[in-house]
Amino acid sequence: MEGNELQHNEYEFVAEIKQLLDIIIHSIYTHPEIFIRELISNASDALNKMRLLRLTEPKILDPESELQINIFVDSTTSNFIIEDTGIGMTKDEVVQQIGTIAHSGTMEFLQRLKEGGSADNLNLIGKFGVGFYSTFMVTDEVTLETRTYMPESTGVRWKSQGKDKYTIEEIEKPKRGTKIFFKLKEQYKEYATPEKVKATIKKYSNFIDFPIYVNKEKVNTVQAIWYKKKEELTKDEVEEFYKFISSDSKPPLSYFQVSIEGNVNFKALLFIPESLPNYFVPELFEKTLLLYSNKVFIQDNNQEILPDYLKFVKGVVDTEDLPLNISRETIQNSPLILKIKKILTTKILNHLEELAISDNAKYNQFFKSFGSIFKSGITIEQSHRDKIIELLRYKSSKSDPEKLISLSEYVQKMKPEQKEIYYVLAETFDSLDKNPNIEYFRKNNIEVLVLTDPIDALVVPFIIEYKGKPLKSIDMADIRIEKSEFQESERIDAELANQLFDKIKNVLGDKILNVQESNRLVSSPVTLVTSKYGHDARAEKIYKIIDKNFQSSAKILEVNTGHPIIKNLVKMMQNNPENHLIDSIILQLYDEALLLEGELENPKEFIERLNAILIKVSE
Ligand code: ADP
Repeated sequence: MEGNELQHNEYEFVAEIKQLLDIIIHSIYTHPEIFIRELISNASDALNKMRLLRLTEPKILDPESELQINIFVDSTTSNFIIEDTGIGMTKDEVVQQIGTIAHSGTMEFLQRLKEGGSADNLNLIGKFGVGFYSTFMVTDEVTLETRTYMPESTGVRWKSQGKDKYTIEEIEKPKRGTKIFFKLKEQYKEYATPEKVKATIKKYSNFIDFPIYVNKEKVNTVQAIWYKKKEELTKDEVEEFYKFISSDSKPPLSYFQVSIEGNVNFKALLFIPESLPNYFVPELFEKTLLLYSNKVFIQDNNQEILPDYLKFVKGVVDTEDLPLNISRETIQNSPLILKIKKILTTKILNHLEELAISDNAKYNQFFKSFGSIFKSGITIEQSHRDKIIELLRYKSSKSDPEKLISLSEYVQKMKPEQKEIYYVLAETFDSLDKNPNIEYFRKNNIEVLVLTDPIDALVVPFIIEYKGKPLKSIDMADIRIEKSEFQESERIDAELANQLFDKIKNVLGDKILNVQESNRLVSSPVTLVTSKYGHDARAEKIYKIIDKNFQSSAKILEVNTGHPIIKNLVKMMQNNPENHLIDSIILQLYDEALLLEGELENPKEFIERLNAILIKVSE
């Protein structure tokens, strides 16, 4: 997508850029200083590319020139100049990269900004690749001069007032790199003072890995803080570093260092964020790990070092064992990376374990933010299965929904006669009250884990048992429930019950697999459960979302033979087995059970039958 050429050397911005510029110039005034951060970040990217190219490219313009960023400001003229010795741009690249918006999320971002441009959105400007344009907040005209690293390249000058046009021309430029200059608007002239610029760099760009000079004075402390010893690291610098690499505005929940020497050598400084990043910035999810080789930046979103279920961890991994000129493909298949992955996985799990012991509140916060991703580890990770299972947390039917418990805590509280660990898959914690299968457990004060995360349906079958105790869904038929005495005294006798069950089978036909007496019901007349060969009903709902052709398992209807409706049904059968009302009531009870599961497909039929029954009883 190129800009449209108007007259000689004069082009028009593509529509999105015009729109963006309009927003930037007219509505974003809260943090004008971020233009400095954005320009430095672009310069740093260009320098990083140069640093890597230098290792492989034999012919480079000014091979010896130091990789650095120079800023010159003049408070008397309000001029601002930023210059780098980075990779530079060709004419085509200037047109393409400065004249269009590369990132697909940008239009959405623009929309959001328009709806209400908050300061938080503003922080995202850089992430959307609109960084360069933030300069138009503080100036009326920007000039960019650039020349690539290739010795035969020519210089290019791009100039724009940020309205709808820009000009581009070839120029003499002896040096490699990019120079951007402009005059600050009257109200922003303070950014032409070295003090203000230095303070801004300290705030946003302190960890940039290249020296930054302001009016020839070096400003940033280029420092690989992951090389520091634990005792030397201050909380402030660690938090500052975290914010810098993660774009998170909040401090991390926790962090830790790893330093391994021997077979494999690497250092890492890793962070657990407090919460998931802003959902509409997918880039933030991708930015996981920065990979360095001996303090030289290699990659900013390495996807290979961490297993998927630990990808919420952010930080830096620096290994001197990795050759600097390594390609992305080689990183992917490198045995070194695999070794680092193995070690880091163990270290992260150990860290989580320590956090769970030392700071329960923080651990729970971690689990609320990242539990869904983390849990999935059980399905893929054999070697750390047991550890991950120990680290799982669930809501409990016995405490308020904010509290989370571990399987270990659950087992410790079990009565000796309880042989199984019970759980229920529930849409929400409160929806548990609608589930008749919980009645027995409430009545007998047996704890049930309440699994409200949709991923639980997929993950929990992988646990199978914990400390020799099988995990059982209370919605399935194969749980070991003893009959309680109070129920026993109120039940109808077995022969009558069997006659009724035959009748029910007759009426419901192949809607159900079987009918049996229930031990789990207290106040409900019937419930549907799944045979041990089938799946939990809620799990099936999730499977159906994933696989449209998924076949539901046939259900078993459990009947509470102490319930008044059931007792009345038996009496009706004794009086007149042909009474049609019996069939209607059986169908109605079955539909009620479906309704509670959210599975009733034909509410019209249900209501019509209910009305027919009401007519009968009100006659
Ligand atoms: P982003 O940096 O997020 O991609 P920008 O609008 O700030 O978005 O920059 C667009 C592109 O212009 C960059 O991706 C880069 O390719 C190029 N660019 C910007 N500044 C420089 C620079 N100083 N040196 C080389 N290329 C640059």
